[in-house]
Amino acid sequence: MLSKKIAAALLAAALCTTSLTAPLPTFASVPVSAETVTDIPQDYRTACDWIWKNRIETERSCEAWSTIYDQIVAGNGTLQYILIWQSYEKITLAQRQNLSKMLEEAVNKWNDCLVGYDEWPIDHVNVKVVGYAVLDESCILDRQPDEVVYTQTTNSWLHDDMISSGMGNSSVPNIQPAEPVDISRYVHWNDKNWSYRGSYDNRYDMYLHGITGMIDMGGYGYHYGQILSDRSVLGLIDGKTSQHILLHEMGHGFGFPDYYGGEGESDGFPPGGFPGGQGSIMMAGSCGYIVSPQQASKIHGIPAGDMRSEYLSLFVRSAKASPPGGRCSLR
Ligand SMILES: [Zn+2]
Repeated sequence: MLSKKIAAALLAAALCTTSLTAPLPTFASVPVSAETVTDIPQDYRTACDWIWKNRIETERSCEAWSTIYDQIVAGNGTLQYILIWQSYEKITLAQRQNLSKMLEEAVNKWNDCLVGYDEWPIDHVNVKVVGYAVLDESCILDRQPDEVVYTQTTNSWLHDDMISSGMGNSSVPNIQPAEPVDISRYVHWNDKNWSYRGSYDNRYDMYLHGITGMIDMGGYGYHYGQILSDRSVLGLIDGKTSQHILLHEMGHGFGFPDYYGGEGESDGFPPGGFPGGQGSIMMAGSCGYIVSPQQASKIHGIPAGDMRSEYLSLFVRSAKASPPGGRCSLR
């Protein structure tokens, strides 16, 4: 518990950000060795304790051991995606060729924060797109012989909730492509003998799910995938849409909770926010990027190694201890 509390506490520090337009405050450099909870920088303790008690314990976001960290390690630096396309928009071959590049760029914005830290073993994550699950296969223009397309459909489990919650409108299709779950590593994470249609290489680790009628300024993020509007997905592929919502949703897959809602509310963010009023990629609308350890170090005046400290360390260690199909030793 103590180590997790330290971890959660430094989570906030690790991802705090500041407006690009504001001058960076200057702090005296304070040597910090974040080995116990009392080593957390003083100005983060209240906010971090609050996040731990109100968000992480409640949401149990540290308890899933198939986080993206675990998946990256289990895939030896490769993440395999499928695209679930709950849309009738066409996708060109050039767009499909850009999809893996776009996802690779995004996930490496997170991974870059880990490189060189606590023996994190992966310098760069390679992303492969290994299939498309669609409502209509004619959406896949110029389909290539090596492209795998799944065409079964099912009732949409998100449809009603999206409309009632305002995440989507009545044009959200009430059917969706069926996930080929027999090759989902997430589904079979705890079954180390699962064969994935005969080869581990056939698996997919996560999906990107695009939905017609979903709002563009929102998404869902899980350990097993990210869900965005179809327009956002195409905009990301074409380089016309900011990655910040995708990065936020990926953040959930790395174990981070949301830091929004009302200040001090149980599902909100800590009273007083973060030191200096800084935002976070996990605090919707407050920040559009993941701050690097070097930036954070400069802002907060503490060593870069500590800015990405024990929270990430917890996950790094757990991921390294978790072979494919295994569970991590830390809970
Ligand atoms: Zn969120």
